[in-house]
Amino acid sequence: MPNIFDEINALKEEIRDRLSSKLSKKEIREAVHDPHAHRRPRPCGLTVHTGIGCPLRCVYCYIYDMGFQHNIRQYPLSPEQLVYALASNPYFIPGRNGTLIAMGSVTEPFLPQTKDLSIRYIEAITKYLGNPIQFSTKMYIDKRDAWRIADIDPDISPLITIITIKHRVELEPYAPLPELRFRTIENLLEAGLKPILFYRPIIPGIAEEEYEEILVRAKAAGAIGVVAGGLRVTKNILSRLSEKGVPVKEILRRMTGPLHDNEQAPVMVSDIKMRIKDKALSLGFIFFSQACMANIYTHGMYCLRMVVERTVSARFNLPSSTEIENIVKKAGLTPIRIRFTRYTLIVRVKEPCDKVRKFLLQELIKYRYKICVSIKCEKT
Ligand code: SF4
Repeated sequence: MPNIFDEINALKEEIRDRLSSKLSKKEIREAVHDPHAHRRPRPCGLTVHTGIGCPLRCVYCYIYDMGFQHNIRQYPLSPEQLVYALASNPYFIPGRNGTLIAMGSVTEPFLPQTKDLSIRYIEAITKYLGNPIQFSTKMYIDKRDAWRIADIDPDISPLITIITIKHRVELEPYAPLPELRFRTIENLLEAGLKPILFYRPIIPGIAEEEYEEILVRAKAAGAIGVVAGGLRVTKNILSRLSEKGVPVKEILRRMTGPLHDNEQAPVMVSDIKMRIKDKALSLGFIFFSQACMANIYTHGMYCLRMVVERTVSARFNLPSSTEIENIVKKAGLTPIRIRFTRYTLIVRVKEPCDKVRKFLLQELIKYRYKICVSIKCEKT
C-alpha cells in the first residue's frame, strides 16, 4: 500500500530541487539547520519569524521572557532559504490545503528594519509553496505597501492589533498610535484585502472600558472581522503591568494556576471575550474565536468549527469513519477508535506510534478536511 506521506514528501523534494540551483551549499546548510526546518506547527499554524527581537516593548509582551531582546535584527535567512527550510520541515505540508503560516508571533513584521524582508518572505512563500499566510501587526502600513502586499497575495489574512486607545502610552509606549493602525485597516481594505481587528491580548480591567469604542472605530475604518484572544502572563509581565497602574488584582483573580518563574500562565477572560463577540456581531463583524479561522476565511475556505460556532453559514460534509480509517492505515498506523466530539475528531491508534508520523498525520487530516484533530496513541 502506498504511504500517504509519499506524495507530500515528493512535493517537498521537488520544491527543494527548484531552489537548490539558486542557493549555495552553505546557504542550504544554513536553511536545513534553521529552526524553521524543525519547528512543529502550533494550533494557529507554523510561525514564520521575520526578525529577531522587538523594539516596541509592549508591556504585556511575553517575548522578552523567552530571551528575545529589545532590539531587532532581520531574520538571517533569505526568502529562498526560508522556503527551503519550510520544505525541509518534517511537519510541514505545502500548498493551499497545507499548513497555515502565521507571521508576527515573536516580533513585529512591519518594522522599518523587517518590512521589506517580510514582504519578500510573503512573495517567496506564495511563489513556491502557496500556503495560506496570515500576519499580525501594530505598524502603520501605507497605501503603497498595502497594494504591494495585495498584488503578491490577494488572499492574505491581515490582523491589525488594537487593544487600547486610552492606555496606549503606558501599555504600548513605542508602537504606532492606534489612529495610524485604524488607517492601516483603511489602506488594506482599499487595496482589496480583508483586514481583521486583532483584539489580543484581552487585558481584564482595561478591555471592559474600551472594547466598544475600539470595535466601533475598527468597523468605521473597514475591518471585516474580529479575532479576540486571551492574555498570558509571567511574573515580569505582572510587575510591569502593575508599575503602569493596571489593576493586577483583577488579573490575579482570574488566573487558573500558580506562576513559576518565566513560565507563561493563562488568564481566564472568556466572559470578556463573549462580550466582545456579542458587540462585534451586533456591529456586523464576522467573529473568529481563533486566529487560524481568519486565515482560512480570507482564503475562501471554512472549517468544521466555523460552521459549529456559526462563524459562517454553510454545510459541512464530515468525512466518514472508513475514510479516516483508510488514511490512518496509509500512514502506517493502526486505528482503534474514531469519533467526533463537538468539532474535534479524536483518533485512537495502537502503539507503537512514531511521533513525527503521528503529528504529520494529524496535520494532514486537519488541513485536508478542515477539522480539528487529536490523535492519541494507546496500548491495547
Ligand atoms: S509589537 Fe508584538 S512582539 Fe513587539 S513588543 Fe509588542 S507584542 Fe511584543
